Amino acid sequence: MKPFELAARENKKEDTIIEITGPGSSVKIGEGYCTIIAGPCAVENRDDYIELAQFLARSGAHLLRGGLFKPRTSPYSFRGLGKEGLDILKEARLATGLPVITEVMDIRDLDYLVGEVDILQVGSRNMQNYALLDELGKLDTPVLLKRGFSATIEEWLLAAEYILAQGNGQVILCERGIRTFEPYTRNTVDIGAVALVKKLSHLPVMVDPSHATGKWDMVIPVAKAAIAAGADGVMVEVHQDPDHALSDGKQSLNKDNFLIMVNQIHRLADMEKKKLNTR
Ligand code: PEP
Ligand code: MN
Repeated sequence: MKPFELAARENKKEDTIIEITGPGSSVKIGEGYCTIIAGPCAVENRDDYIELAQFLARSGAHLLRGGLFKPRTSPYSFRGLGKEGLDILKEARLATGLPVITEVMDIRDLDYLVGEVDILQVGSRNMQNYALLDELGKLDTPVLLKRGFSATIEEWLLAAEYILAQGNGQVILCERGIRTFEPYTRNTVDIGAVALVKKLSHLPVMVDPSHATGKWDMVIPVAKAAIAAGADGVMVEVHQDPDHALSDGKQSLNKDNFLIMVNQIHRLADMEKKKLNTR
C-alpha cells in the first residue's frame, strides 16, 4: 500500500473526472479531456478583467483564473484586491458563462468564497498548510492543489490525501515547477512528474507553465510538453498588457500568443485523442 492511500491508483483504478459547472458551461477535468484555464495572475481592476475574460471565453479558455490574494515574496509588492475583487470575478463569471478559479490562502476567507467560485486553488506556498487542507476537505468545492516548490511527489500526493481523507474527492493536482540550482528559469518544470503522477494516482494532473518557467516565451513550448506527457490540461497567465501587469507580467502571454497556444494545444489534444471541452 502507498502512504497516500486514497489518492493511489491501486485503491481506485478508474480515473477521477471532475465536472465543473459554470453559469453557462460545464467542463470536465481528468483523463480523456484537455482543459485550458487562463487569466491574469491577479484581478487588477474591473474593466480590464471583464474585457480580458470575454476575450478568453471566445478564444478557447474553459475556465477563468484571477488571483484575489497574491502570495508575494515581498510584502511591498501588489498583493491583490482581496475580498473587494470577488465582485469582479463574479461579474466575469456571469458575463462569460465560464467557471472561475481563485487561490485561497486563509481559512477565514472560505466563508465568502465558497459558493461563489467554482474551484479553490491552493498555491505552492500553502501545499503543506494542513489546517487549510483539512478545511478544504470538508467542502464539496473542487480544489486545485499546486505542487509545493520544494515538495517531493510523495509529499504532494500526501497533501492531496489530507483533502481526500476529509471527504472531498474533487482534487486536481497541478505541477508548477520546483526550485533547483538553475537560475535561468523561475522554477524547473518537472515534466516527468506528470507522467509519473498519472500512473501513481487516479486524480487529474494539470501543469502551470507560467509559474514553472517565469518566461512568457517558454510558456507555449512547456504547455505543449505538458499535454504530450499526459497532462489533463494547462493553466496559463494571460494579460492584456504584460509589460504593465501588477504581478507576473514577465511570464504572462499576451492575447495574440494565447491564441497561438490554444491552436497548438488543440492540435496536440487531437493527436493524443483527448476531447476538448466545448461550450
Ligand atoms: C498562482 O497561480 O497565482 C500562483 C501564485 O502560483 P504558485 O502558487 O504556483 O506560485
Ligand atoms: Mn502569478
